[in-house]
Amino acid sequence: MTLDLSKFQATGQETCFHDRHIQPQIYTGLNGRNWRLKDYEARGGYQAVRKVLALDGAGMSPEQVIAEVKASGLRGRGGAGFPTGLKWSFMPRALPVQKYLVCNSDEGEPGTCKDRDILNYNPHIVIEGMIIAAWAMGISVGYNYIHGEIFEVYDRFEEALEEARAAGYLGNNILGSAHSFQLHAHHGFGAYICGEETALIESIEGKKGQPRFKPPFPASFGIYGKPTTINNTETFAAVPWIINNGGQAYLECGKPNNGGTKIFSMVGDVERPGNYEVPMGTPFATLLELAGGVKGGKKLKAVIPGGSSSPVLPAEIMMACTMDYDAISKAGSMLGSGAVIVMDDSRCMVKSLLRLSYFYAHESCGQCTPCREGTGWLWRLVNRIEHGQGRAEDLDLLDNVAENIMGRTICALGDAAAMPVRAMIKHYRHEFVHHIEHKTCMVPAYV
Ligand code: SF4
Repeated sequence: MTLDLSKFQATGQETCFHDRHIQPQIYTGLNGRNWRLKDYEARGGYQAVRKVLALDGAGMSPEQVIAEVKASGLRGRGGAGFPTGLKWSFMPRALPVQKYLVCNSDEGEPGTCKDRDILNYNPHIVIEGMIIAAWAMGISVGYNYIHGEIFEVYDRFEEALEEARAAGYLGNNILGSAHSFQLHAHHGFGAYICGEETALIESIEGKKGQPRFKPPFPASFGIYGKPTTINNTETFAAVPWIINNGGQAYLECGKPNNGGTKIFSMVGDVERPGNYEVPMGTPFATLLELAGGVKGGKKLKAVIPGGSSSPVLPAEIMMACTMDYDAISKAGSMLGSGAVIVMDDSRCMVKSLLRLSYFYAHESCGQCTPCREGTGWLWRLVNRIEHGQGRAEDLDLLDNVAENIMGRTICALGDAAAMPVRAMIKHYRHEFVHHIEHKTCMVPAYV
């Protein structure tokens, strides 16, 4: 699909970013002040719910909704990229027990800030997506787990919930139909690990947010041991468009196996940091151009394409890459949550890795030894290299520690801490060697 740049528009001032550039679907028509129900309805909001729950016999059955979402090729936008329609089909709809639906808005990955903006600018689109998902899976209770450090977003979502309840979109017998759905906002506690789905479940239950062993998976043993489906905020936000326009139309917005659009948080050394919704498969070079290019006209050095846990890729690889799950995976990294961290040629990779390593060591929940001890060990090794006390054998040791964390932990945080280390050493080994041999940085800005 050819990207029509004329469709992009800058909106909104209520943001830490200079601009936001948008494409049809999730952000359409927003200006930062028209998030209320009447504005959303004026943009066609809740038409998808009306279409699904139509009382005249023309509505959509749960099976039809799931088939449409499957046809759309929508993949989870939280990081894993699991096919959404398939995940919904795992829910035992007919089982006569309480089932739960959860929106994972615990956005804590460094660099990622899209879910916060969706909830701030367009909260009703998430509510509408959840109502439809609940209908498809036979669920009557849902939670939106909102990251603990974004108070204004929580308050706004609460207001949006009140509006939706008053209008009959939430509660018993929605719009006179047989579908009842109670949706609640749940404020998280600010821990990165609560974004992991089983830690999030523990947190909703009022316990310490620590990941559970899997299996059993949430589809069979979720909140209070009951079947639970968890999707990311952006995933739910895509559902109304799919229902209104058809799964095939959504699929065709992107590319095969990578349907639809995706919001990328362009952060780091770019002229116009912000969230950009573009079709899947958009060249990275185009995305960089939308964000105004590398800040100050400097040279692009490297990109972390999917949030801090995804492996770094050198500029030459990224400039030839498209932004979709398959292409980024083939290039050796992950699309992850869609936080694109751009680094110019003044960035020292040792110092950058030091910051990442500290983050993961700090956020480890401590349940499993390889992660609890290993993340701290990685940080200490990088720290001594950065501060001129590195030893010749440290690079092999770093790689060895990282290798022994990967695949040996309860949740993916261990891998998330290890992968950036291995990728940094793979692509920028010479910078680490220079630090060790010369006790200083080889990047001019840091000398
Ligand atoms: Fe906790 Fe780390 Fe183990 Fe995940 S990998 S359960 S964060 S100790």
